[in-house]
Amino acid sequence: MWLTKSNLGIMKAFGIGAGEGKGFLGVYAANFFKEGEIVMDLSIGDVSSIRDLRTIELSTRHIDHPFGRYVNHHCDPTCFIDKNRELMIALRDINIGDEITFDYSLNESSIAAPFECSCGAPNCKGVISK
Ligand SMILES: [Zn+2]
Repeated sequence: MWLTKSNLGIMKAFGIGAGEGKGFLGVYAANFFKEGEIVMDLSIGDVSSIRDLRTIELSTRHIDHPFGRYVNHHCDPTCFIDKNRELMIALRDINIGDEITFDYSLNESSIAAPFECSCGAPNCKGVISK
């Protein structure tokens, strides 16, 4: 899964690391993405029979994606999930080093493990649960 031809572009586009002041991993842009651009192809994700904080809900299935699993929630995210096309799309221009995030509460029909958000956005929703 990690080094196939189909996800080579993804490999070049992201870095996974611990964010500044954060004790957990996140995904950071290693390329510039324009608003509306495809950031991640989620169709290569493996079907997951369980739902947890690392899985992503699509139209017909729940997936565990090798990079998507490290994408953190943000209440003012840089991306959203196009569930039908199975793509992660840039909500705005994303610069190199910006964190790739999406709003779990908008995407998931149920949050398996509710958590207190610390994204720091002015519109932070606080506890993320459903
Ligand atoms: Zn938040």
